[in-house]
Amino acid sequence: MKFDAPQFQSEAEARRYIEALRWPGGRVCPKCGVIGAEYETKREGRYRCGAKECRKDFTVMTGTVMEASHIKLTVWLMAFYLMASSKKGMSAHQLHRSLDVTYKSAWFLAHRIRAAMASGGLTSPMGGSGQIVEADETYYGKVENPRTQRFDGKPYKPGKKQTGPANKRAVVALIERGGQARVFHVAEATRETVEKIVKENVDPKSRLHTDESKLYPRVGAEFASHETVKHTANEYARGDVHVNTAEGFFGVFKKGMTGVYQHCSEKHLHRYLSEYEFRFNNRTKLGVTDVQRAQRAIEGADGKRLTYRRTNGQAAS
Ligand SMILES: [Zn+2]
Repeated sequence: MKFDAPQFQSEAEARRYIEALRWPGGRVCPKCGVIGAEYETKREGRYRCGAKECRKDFTVMTGTVMEASHIKLTVWLMAFYLMASSKKGMSAHQLHRSLDVTYKSAWFLAHRIRAAMASGGLTSPMGGSGQIVEADETYYGKVENPRTQRFDGKPYKPGKKQTGPANKRAVVALIERGGQARVFHVAEATRETVEKIVKENVDPKSRLHTDESKLYPRVGAEFASHETVKHTANEYARGDVHVNTAEGFFGVFKKGMTGVYQHCSEKHLHRYLSEYEFRFNNRTKLGVTDVQRAQRAIEGADGKRLTYRRTNGQAAS
């Protein structure tokens, strides 16, 4: 990608660019929410809230994933573009080399941008009358401390796969046909955890498509229809019944994770999943360009601040 546009060249241009994305209807005080009441201070890009009881200073970075970082806005913008446009993701090492920043800064940028991409607040149900939602699960990587007990207290029996291997990380994906994906990392893909995710996210008027896994028949009965494909019998699609979109998503995710992110600890897995989910939900097939995808990630930067300690420490959410 070429970075010859003005917003990648000067801090003032970068700031104007981000301000226009974040505040299309006028500057909003991130402390009290008042719009257009601010005035400029002596420091360029720093505003003071004009509301009597507030008077707080703020910049376009305040209250975003960019807050309190010493990284230049031009670098933030380039990092947003690189991460939004790469098909399989971009490692901190690649960012470090491409942007000429320290590895530590690159790692920090990557995690914060991932947080901006996390689709928090998506609460409306997926699917609907006549619409198809695919549900599927996969297992990826190794957990640091393999579980020896199942959630029901029974020990895992080696070689006897029921709800997935004890030493693998379980991922559940819901994908609206031709639409959006929501992906979840669960400690264990049991019928209970999977049912909860499906019920909480999918409109019961939808057609639910899964493979023949035992995880879905009970919850499937609550939908307009539950249709399955028999992978064990080499059946991958029957008419429009399939889970190929979900499997395609898992394929891109696994390829990217082995090729780009070799060292992903389990506690960070949900962040990486959010990143892949974001790119999928803003994919070219839905008419989203690389530029629009990066802009949407920047818009998502609002209110998703992550402190260094939280990303790096035990208290990771
Ligand atoms: Zn204010």
